[in-house]
Amino acid sequence: AKTEARGSLRYFTPSLQEAAQTRAKLASALPAAMREGQIFLLYQPLIDLQSEAVIGCEALARWKHPELGMVSPVQFIAVAEETGLIGELGLYILHRAIRDFAGAIPDAGSKNLTLSVNLSFGQFAESEFVDSIRGALDATGFPPERLELELTETMLALEPERASETTRALSALGCKLAIDDFGTGYSSLAQLRHFSVDYLKIDRSFVVDLEGGEGPQAVVRAAIAMAHSLGMAIIAEGVETLEQAEFLRSAGAEVVQGYLYGKPMPIEDFAAMAGEIAKP
Ligand code: C2E
Ligand code: CA
Ligand code: CA
Ligand code: CA
Repeated sequence: AKTEARGSLRYFTPSLQEAAQTRAKLASALPAAMREGQIFLLYQPLIDLQSEAVIGCEALARWKHPELGMVSPVQFIAVAEETGLIGELGLYILHRAIRDFAGAIPDAGSKNLTLSVNLSFGQFAESEFVDSIRGALDATGFPPERLELELTETMLALEPERASETTRALSALGCKLAIDDFGTGYSSLAQLRHFSVDYLKIDRSFVVDLEGGEGPQAVVRAAIAMAHSLGMAIIAEGVETLEQAEFLRSAGAEVVQGYLYGKPMPIEDFAAMAGEIAKP
């Protein structure tokens, strides 16, 4: 048993060290990666379920590291959070998304297209956060009502009073707000009513579960009904099949996003797609 324990210890320690080394490597490479354009954005279409029209896109970050290859955004966002680089990275992403979007789709306003950008915890918690969003809008002249900011339940739940102030300030700027990954955190819709939020994004795990029949379907129906009663519209994430889309339509969801309609793609491809009606 002792050998076994020592054996598993030997196996475990190097992998931990390796993970720590990778994190340290990513952290030290991150500033140059931003400068050199190794970090870029892909855009996934959002589709209106009634008209089947493309109504916007979500910017999703990518890092092509020269040695490590593609690094998951989940990993490098976490590294940026841990090392205090999240403010800088978040601003870089916001500016780059606006520049990409406005450059490829100069008539976004007349087409009613929106741009969704993910915010992370450390970014939202910074005191200059609202000013930095205002600054980005002023510097680019981007119409605020075309910008949708995605927050998570955790960001709202930790310091609800401050978060409620921040979300109100963002709404006052004219931006739209969405709660991302709904159902994966610990908040209830009852708590969310204190925030002025426009959209609720139902997490992909619930959409996957829809195949499971009446129980999971009832959960999604209930979430949609409650969100509607609080004045929020629904975006369902991770829609991969026509059956899922049909269920969501019948349950009253407004917007869908997922591989059925398009994977994250370069902004030029999104601009071309937005010129047509979405046909999965
Ligand atoms: P998220 O915000 O929930 O983004 C949705 C994720 O689901 C994306 O993964 C997207 O590519 C993936 N996805 C979309 N449709 C489907 C589908 O039909 N099937 C499956 N299997 N997956 C689908 P991605 O791009 O790897 O991003 C992962 C997470 O990393 C994001 O989850 C978000 O939390 C974070 N992230 C990505 N970009 C940014 C960013 O610019 N800023 C911040 N703060 N976080 C970001
Ligand atoms: Ca998101
Ligand atoms: Ca999500
Ligand atoms: Ca997610």
